[in-house]
Amino acid sequence: MHEECILIHYNEIGLKKGNRRYFENKLRKNILRATTGLGVRGVRRLWGRMLITLNDDARPNEILAALQKVFGIAYFAPARLIEQDIAAMETAAVELVAGKTFRSFKIATRRANKSFPLQSVEVNRRVGARVQKASGAKVDLGDPECTVHIEIFDDSALVYVDRVDGPGGLPVGVSNKAVLLLSSGIDSPVAGYQMLKRGVDVIYVHFHSTPYTSPASIRNTQKLVELLTTYQYRSYLYLIPFLEIQQAITSVVPASYRVIMYRRAMFYLAERVAFKHKANALITGENVGQVASQTLPNIRAINEPVRLPVLRPLCGFDKQEIIERARTIGTYEISIQPYEDCCSLFVPDRPETNASMKTVLDFDQKLDLLPFYRQALQQAEKKKITSRSDFNGKEG
Ligand code: ATP
Ligand code: MG
Repeated sequence: MHEECILIHYNEIGLKKGNRRYFENKLRKNILRATTGLGVRGVRRLWGRMLITLNDDARPNEILAALQKVFGIAYFAPARLIEQDIAAMETAAVELVAGKTFRSFKIATRRANKSFPLQSVEVNRRVGARVQKASGAKVDLGDPECTVHIEIFDDSALVYVDRVDGPGGLPVGVSNKAVLLLSSGIDSPVAGYQMLKRGVDVIYVHFHSTPYTSPASIRNTQKLVELLTTYQYRSYLYLIPFLEIQQAITSVVPASYRVIMYRRAMFYLAERVAFKHKANALITGENVGQVASQTLPNIRAINEPVRLPVLRPLCGFDKQEIIERARTIGTYEISIQPYEDCCSLFVPDRPETNASMKTVLDFDQKLDLLPFYRQALQQAEKKKITSRSDFNGKEG
């Protein structure tokens, strides 16, 4: 009797003792969503890990690929579930390494069930002797090319060979909700990714100045949200018209302060969306010192209209580091498509880098943007975005 399955390890969650069940349930649910339609029979807990069991028609390679996008997984491995018997362990180990080439190996046994009659070292020795004979490789306990893992539980055992690194982080949803201000630039999608990785359920808000800016910017933004949603399965995107607010600001505010006033308006509106969804924070792609609008006095002036905390996961990164991450995630190619940012409209050659709070508040008084805010929110378009895996099974 044996069964092919996939073993999931989730280090960081294991540390959170009080909330462990909650974290595990989220992870389990996210694994099921990410692998919808791929033949997963079930996901069950097993001694601080998880075990994915498979139907006969399962597509294991696609399941393994999908697991790369489930935050909370430290590593995973195709595994074989067997009965608790040394002969079965030997057979499984020999069969699992059969297709592989390696010059050195070790067996690493862990016993969760201490009543198993053989001690770990004895299991290592016996299974090792069989693998050595079958493969001709030598035992190397220090830095082997291949490690066969054996884990012994209550009434069964698992054998697996290759551990695949997962994406790490925490399961999306365990860290509540936050609203990301998403431009179609390079930074904010990466900021969103970093917070998804910390378990935050991200809601997306994009401000556009159509018909002044081309629809391409909205399309790119939607593509970015679709990509990020593959980590969270479903999400909301708010497209908020910004042109009239911009025009109101340009009619009162001198060029050097316009970007600061635009951003303040964006923060205010994003916070309204956050309140509506009972989200607890805003997220931006801001980075200290990267562009003129992002000096500390300016960040302070921009932050002033909101009460929710503003997470800036990229604030300490170099641009090059952000670009590399964007490439890895896959957002870079979308972000560099030509587009007009709404904030590239009506902006100065020499922006203010040391915003005065008094000046900003004076502009606010003169502007009276509340009616514009109300209208922008009324005209906002809310889209529900679903990742492809969520369609699987429903749409084939
Ligand atoms: P990005 O690459 O994310 O556009 P940036 O380095 O170009 O960032 P800014 O253009 O100053 O910096 O924007 C700062 C932050 O303000 C962005 O990271 C984003 O969070 C938010 N933001 C800017 N423009 C928009 C927009 N049109 N819609 C929503 N959020 C925006
Ligand atoms: Mg930008």
